[in-house]
Amino acid sequence: MSTDQPFLPFALPDIGDEEIAEVVDTLKSGWITTGPKTRRFESDFTAFLGDPSLQSMAVNSATAGLHLALEALGIGPGDEVITTTHTFTATAEVVRYLGADVVLVDVDPVTLNLDITAVEAAITPRTKAVIPVHYGGLAVDMSRLLAIARRHGLKVVEDAAHALPATAGGQLIGALGSDATVFSFYANKTITTGEGGMVVTRDLALAKRIQVMRLHGISRDAFDRFQSKVPSWYYEVVAPGFKYNLTDIAAALGLHQLRRARAFQVRRGEIAASYSAAFSNLPVVLPAAAPAGEVHAWHLYSLRLAADAPTDRDTFIKRLFDAGIGCSVHYVPLHLQPYWRDRYRLKAEQFPHSQAAYERLVSLPLYTRMSEGDVDRVIHAVAGALR
Ligand SMILES: *Cc1c(COP(=O)(O)O)cnc(C)c1O
Repeated sequence: MSTDQPFLPFALPDIGDEEIAEVVDTLKSGWITTGPKTRRFESDFTAFLGDPSLQSMAVNSATAGLHLALEALGIGPGDEVITTTHTFTATAEVVRYLGADVVLVDVDPVTLNLDITAVEAAITPRTKAVIPVHYGGLAVDMSRLLAIARRHGLKVVEDAAHALPATAGGQLIGALGSDATVFSFYANKTITTGEGGMVVTRDLALAKRIQVMRLHGISRDAFDRFQSKVPSWYYEVVAPGFKYNLTDIAAALGLHQLRRARAFQVRRGEIAASYSAAFSNLPVVLPAAAPAGEVHAWHLYSLRLAADAPTDRDTFIKRLFDAGIGCSVHYVPLHLQPYWRDRYRLKAEQFPHSQAAYERLVSLPLYTRMSEGDVDRVIHAVAGALR
């Protein structure tokens, strides 16, 4: 099947004139790295989450943010950190940066979020932390997870790369009772700064350590040095830190993306609702909706081909590609990835729900720049590919 319509990519960022003007303003301002716009982006982020007791710290990726949060919590060699097999490798690799071990658990077959019963079963005397991932933008049952973590003395760092804005128990992800929550502003996420991320915590000691470690272990960053009364040339290195600060060029994008985050979520939700209505009679398993009263961030629309579908997943993706539509798969689970599989001698049978989902899983285009015509095109191509 061929098409004369232009290819519809799997994802596209939604960058408006205000973002562009703010970047130009930054470039002309003379201050292009971490500075006043990053500070404003951080305070706007805390305001967005609606709780002034939160510290928001901008970083140059969510991967950096996860690394910093675990480092600040003291995770190190001999420790175990539990997370889901059904995620991007960044969630787990940061644990290895620190010399600790990753313990992967299977997912709930409906939500594809980590199976909280499996988390509890995986706890050993070495377990120090758990990293829940809000898969696709649907929140993990955080009240249940936090209760288990508290009972066992575990730290909780949320990988909220998909979850801006999403809610659990009526509260925005980022404002719950975890030790830290980490958002991603990668190019295809619900808001973007090209590359970027935000770490959020209420723990002032944790925040202090993250602030120091995100910029070379220097006790105050460049902006403060040039603003404060101590001599501008003086600084102190207190640890071998990292280079994880966000630039003001990126923060300029973030300031306006954040203002549009709620409107973006509404549009993503509309597209997801159109898909789910159109696909209800097809041989597919629809992505789980949020419980009543909760917000789903709809970063991903990932459906599964049903057992009686007339095609397999790979053929389905090929047919959509031939119809001019880009798709993806989230994720090739970590237990199938050579590094993780070999290091921990993992077998697919240990992760039956993630494995079964993966074999039938496909993510469809879902982004705010899609027109109604684009949405209809995807709907018709999906129906056509399943005929
Ligand atoms: C995108 C993503 C990350 C990493 O985000 P970066 O900002 O690219 O470092 C981590 N975890 C999940 C689940 C992601 O989707």
